Amino acid sequence: MSQVHSQPRTRLVMGNWKMHGSLAENAALLAGLAAGQGRGGATELAVTVPFPYLAQVREALADTPLSWGAQDVSVHERGAYTGEVSAAMLADFGCTWVLCGHSERRALHGESSALVAAKAAAALAAGLTPVVCVGETLSDRDAGDAECVIGDQLEPVLALGAEALSRLVIAYEPVWAIGTGRTASPEQAQAIHALIRAALGKSGAANTRVLYGGSVKAANAAALFAQPDIDGALVGGASLVAEEFLNIAAAVA
Ligand code: PEP
Repeated sequence: MSQVHSQPRTRLVMGNWKMHGSLAENAALLAGLAAGQGRGGATELAVTVPFPYLAQVREALADTPLSWGAQDVSVHERGAYTGEVSAAMLADFGCTWVLCGHSERRALHGESSALVAAKAAAALAAGLTPVVCVGETLSDRDAGDAECVIGDQLEPVLALGAEALSRLVIAYEPVWAIGTGRTASPEQAQAIHALIRAALGKSGAANTRVLYGGSVKAANAAALFAQPDIDGALVGGASLVAEEFLNIAAAVA
């Protein structure tokens, strides 16, 4: 299969604020990020924030190299979908990114892999870059099913085709490592990243970036990012502290 080469695998460190923050807390965090963003070198830095704060983030980061995005998107373009937010609305607020299929949405909102892929397609159609999250639970891993689960989660995303794959990002986030303080070892993470990279390569998109997520901190970032198929991080808790987030970016650079 011929490969689509859209982007070099520039390092990317992305914060996921989840449902945290307030106007006052965000102002301090964003000021800290804007002031220290040079520390990440050529690494791209981004934050994904709750919908109500998109305007605040746009204003605070407009004159910086940091980019921003949301944590979910509707598959629908417009209409009677109370509570949903379309990809075009996110684009209106200057979003570059949107998370699709974070494990908390898969687990708490029953999002299927087919729905996650449809969300990614809706995001791409509006010019956004979806960050499609995949990852196994602890029981999947203990049963020896991690690779199979990730293969199943990836399948409908791979079916979007090489051109679409070249315009998105995959995040491998083992569920057992999210918010638990328990990080996958660099070797465990690399093994799954290599599998994802091989699947992307078979689909014509070997250059698609693959981030690791799950209790990433400044202290463990360098060892993870030394792995050949880890292109950066999706960071939850540690992205709420400017200094820690910037130190992760510095470790990746
Ligand atoms: C996440 O929410 O995507 C995440 C990786 O969280 P944490 O870094 O807190 O484990």
